[in-house]
Amino acid sequence: MIEVKELTKSYGPTLAVNRVSFDAKVGEVVGFIGPNGAGKTTTMRILTCYLTADSGSATVAGYDVIENSIDVRKNVGYLPESAPLYTDVGVVEYLKFMADIRNIPKSKRNERLKTVIEICGLEGVIQKDIGELSKGYRQRVGLAQSLIHDPPILILDEPTSGLDPSQTIEIRNLIKNIGREKLVLFSTHILPEVEATCDRILMISRGQIVANGTLDHLCSQVRSNNRLYVAIRGSEETITPQLKQLEGITDITHIDTENGVVSYNITIDNENDNITEYIFQSVVQNGWSLAELRQESIDLEDVFLHFTSGEQSKNTEAPQASESSVTPVDEE
Ligand code: ADP
Repeated sequence: MIEVKELTKSYGPTLAVNRVSFDAKVGEVVGFIGPNGAGKTTTMRILTCYLTADSGSATVAGYDVIENSIDVRKNVGYLPESAPLYTDVGVVEYLKFMADIRNIPKSKRNERLKTVIEICGLEGVIQKDIGELSKGYRQRVGLAQSLIHDPPILILDEPTSGLDPSQTIEIRNLIKNIGREKLVLFSTHILPEVEATCDRILMISRGQIVANGTLDHLCSQVRSNNRLYVAIRGSEETITPQLKQLEGITDITHIDTENGVVSYNITIDNENDNITEYIFQSVVQNGWSLAELRQESIDLEDVFLHFTSGEQSKNTEAPQASESSVTPVDEE
């Protein structure tokens, strides 16, 4: 439904989107995440035909964003970061206006209005002007306009930005429901939002896609540098050097010593499955006692830091030989 290949876009010397490729299909909610300035809005504007790429290609609902931009617009609902709403207009009047712009026949207009008002929970505010609405309700009106022509694809740029926690939860639930039938690509830099809403995560950093997959999949990729927490009753002076000698431990950090229990964060080489056994044996052989040994769980924040840290970006940086005057963005 969306197919993006090697999309590249610069603003003068700023390389905003650098050879971005991905695809997505109907029935998926895809979270497009990355630090501010990573290239999310630029990518979304290209997909919604508000900007043209310098190179690469993108098809949306089977239509090329340059060759068939009218067809792309018919198949996409777009909610920009600041929804373009007219504040002195009534909610229904505005939605009727958007329905006309979208060429919805008069015979079908009322039915579509009723549907989007219901989906977006606007029943209680249909008598009001948009200017009278809270930010959460304005955002719902923005969503309603993006859905008015019943597009199979929705592209939402930071749909919960600036909303309070309860408004945020409502919009997230809305997105989740809509995503059952449509393809929703939405950007955010709020990580819990992604965990709560998305089937798949598309992570962009400095203009490049650095990760693409389910949360579990991305966590398992990060797990290659696994971490353990271990707490041992004994003396730090003897425990630390012994642990350092164990095969498969790549890093060891002493956290603290409390009531005779020494605790560590340990990074292990995942190639070595026996490391927990070695730690246990070492404890027994040295006559210490094991207070705790557990695997540190990995969450989206760890995944995000792993894939968007400077080192990772360096590893994944695309060649820029043909763009010597162009620098990758870094606003983190
Ligand atoms: P995001 O949505 O991830 O925050 P953007 O796509 O808005 O990122 O921006 C990517 C980079 O392109 C940033 O460095 C931003 O400053 C730059 N940029 C975005 N829009 C413009 C513009 N109209 N002119 C110049 N630079 C821009």
